Amino acid sequence: MYSLYFHIPFCRSRCGYCDFNTYAGLERLIPAYLHALEQEIRHAELQAAGRLKVHTLFFGGGTPSLLPLTGLERILSVLHAAFDLDPRAEITLEANPGTLSFNYLQGLKALGVNRLSLGMQSARPEELRLLERQHTYLEVIQAAAWARQAGLENFNLDLIFGLPHQDLESWAHSLEMALRLHPAHLSLYALTVEHGTPLQRWIDRGLLADPDPDLAADMYEHAAGRLEQAGYLQYEISNWGRLEPARLSELGSGFSRGYYAAAVCQHNLQYWRGLPYLGFGAGAHGYAAGVRTENVLSPAAYIQRMQQPGPAVGAFPLTPATIGSRVVGLDDEIAETMMMGLRLVQEGISTTGFKTRFGMTLEHRFSQEIEELTRLGLLEWQGSGAQSRLRLSPRGRLLGNQVFMRFV
Ligand code: SF4
Repeated sequence: MYSLYFHIPFCRSRCGYCDFNTYAGLERLIPAYLHALEQEIRHAELQAAGRLKVHTLFFGGGTPSLLPLTGLERILSVLHAAFDLDPRAEITLEANPGTLSFNYLQGLKALGVNRLSLGMQSARPEELRLLERQHTYLEVIQAAAWARQAGLENFNLDLIFGLPHQDLESWAHSLEMALRLHPAHLSLYALTVEHGTPLQRWIDRGLLADPDPDLAADMYEHAAGRLEQAGYLQYEISNWGRLEPARLSELGSGFSRGYYAAAVCQHNLQYWRGLPYLGFGAGAHGYAAGVRTENVLSPAAYIQRMQQPGPAVGAFPLTPATIGSRVVGLDDEIAETMMMGLRLVQEGISTTGFKTRFGMTLEHRFSQEIEELTRLGLLEWQGSGAQSRLRLSPRGRLLGNQVFMRFV
């Protein structure tokens, strides 16, 4: 089963901390960009061996909620024609709260979108200003209410912690304000100061304090405790799904119990489980048939490549928009499996799954690393024998990057 990602690289303005492949002031390109997306989808359809089965779609960005409903409708109908789309497919659209209206959300629902991801980031006006976000917390409340009314109750809120001048109390406040909206899902990210962003320049000039990593770790621990208490399952380092108690009591025991009862993001699970996905649009990445692909970054160049494809494109999963591709060798695949799989803090890496996929045992391949990291209390085993899984300990979740580095 495949997952499909669509990158929508348009924003009304650029936020000071953002280093995503997005552009302000290029909305005039949207119609041509949508047409180029259609072309790229059709190209993938023609190149693939057989009709691909697809179970998740994700429109990310950028600000996909800037797309007109008619354009989205067209893309979805091209997708239905090109792929074998599961009738229960998860279809997510990222939205900026300030760009939404009730009619728009109703329109999304009518088109089959069944999951929203809203960029809330903070409930504090001064923090939203610092991030140069264009929305207010009131607009988040309004967006959540409209989403529910439109039948899109499966929504995520993104929040950022570890901001310059943010203290634990301020973070706890934003988290409470998010919980008041009863989101089905929460993604919490520590602010990273990306190279070349305005935020980095302000910090370098001493206009803003450097984020404090120890304080950010305290904020993360606070959130993990509070969300567990509020009935959310942490299933990935930065992601929590709301547990539905009615579903939980129907299910037996075992690690997967939580997944079926929690509102997890199926699309992102595909990445973390190392399963195939195609990426469409400017700067989109894909992984299919053992090949990682990367598309051209600029929206104008993307449109041009899809309008006038060059002569030699290459076999699936390459498209005329591809500017980089890499066959993933065995060692890379193993390293990626460890890095991505360990992000799944409940599921971790299954010993049986690892042996089936790579023909060797996890303990044999990484005996020294596992012994050392379990001794340091950063990794732990769950279950025993064929059922056993290696996963991050609660302490390991705070030091994930240090753990991952040992498997590269
Ligand atoms: S809205 Fe999101 S994608 Fe757009 S500039 Fe801001 S952070 Fe980046």
